[in-house]
Amino acid sequence: MVQDKATRRSQHKINIAIDGYSSCGKGTLAKALAKHLDYIFIDSGAMYRAVTLHMMRMGVDVLNETAVMDALQGVTLSCSINKQKQTEIILNGKGVESEIRGLLVASKVSEVSKILAVRNKLVAIQQEIGMNKGVVMDGRDIGTVVFPQAEVKIFMTANSAVRANRRFEELIANGDAVSLETVRKNLEHRDSIDESREHSPLSRTSDYCILDNSDLSKEKQLEIALKWVNDALNSVNS
Ligand code: C5P
Repeated sequence: MVQDKATRRSQHKINIAIDGYSSCGKGTLAKALAKHLDYIFIDSGAMYRAVTLHMMRMGVDVLNETAVMDALQGVTLSCSINKQKQTEIILNGKGVESEIRGLLVASKVSEVSKILAVRNKLVAIQQEIGMNKGVVMDGRDIGTVVFPQAEVKIFMTANSAVRANRRFEELIANGDAVSLETVRKNLEHRDSIDESREHSPLSRTSDYCILDNSDLSKEKQLEIALKWVNDALNSVNS
């Protein structure tokens, strides 16, 4: 049963971790859950993208780990809530939402995300945000590393053609002149680095609920996820 907001406010909150491959619709589901539950939505990928943008602005070779670690000292990240009640990443005092979404950042972000010092810095920020619960966070290591005790862990998948198409349409809508083939290659490249890296690779443990949304509408995937969430809420509040 879907609970109303007043009932939920009097209850203990939980953390919800959503992990999965690139462009699986993790953000769409996370935002919808956060809105429904009155929780905070955090896009952890945006933090990795913002650090990558900083490296690019500073002219740092992202394959040079020492140079990335040095430049990391100059990164200050925070989150702000915009007029549409969406969380935006602030890099060194300035919003960078549109800049981090392009293919240029996407082509380097997985290299930057491999570096342990980068992960340690961002995981610490993410864990602090989740300390008081009531957070829906999506990424690659949220249920395995950031919130291993998250009450709900969802692993999202979708077939690769569907994912490439979704990402392609998003980029085109943002005015990026890219080809579908370039987008498909970028997704494959990122997935392969994200799954095989040494530190916090994308993986699923047995406590994840698996959600393949290749053929699901947004409404249906929300309905499925809310069932898992409500089971968890009932269990922490009983
Ligand atoms: O989620 P998004 O596609 O924006 O993430 C961009 C990249 O950031 C991923 O491909 C991955 O390399 C990295 N990432 C990560 N850990 C997370 C979130 C994102 O390594 N928790």
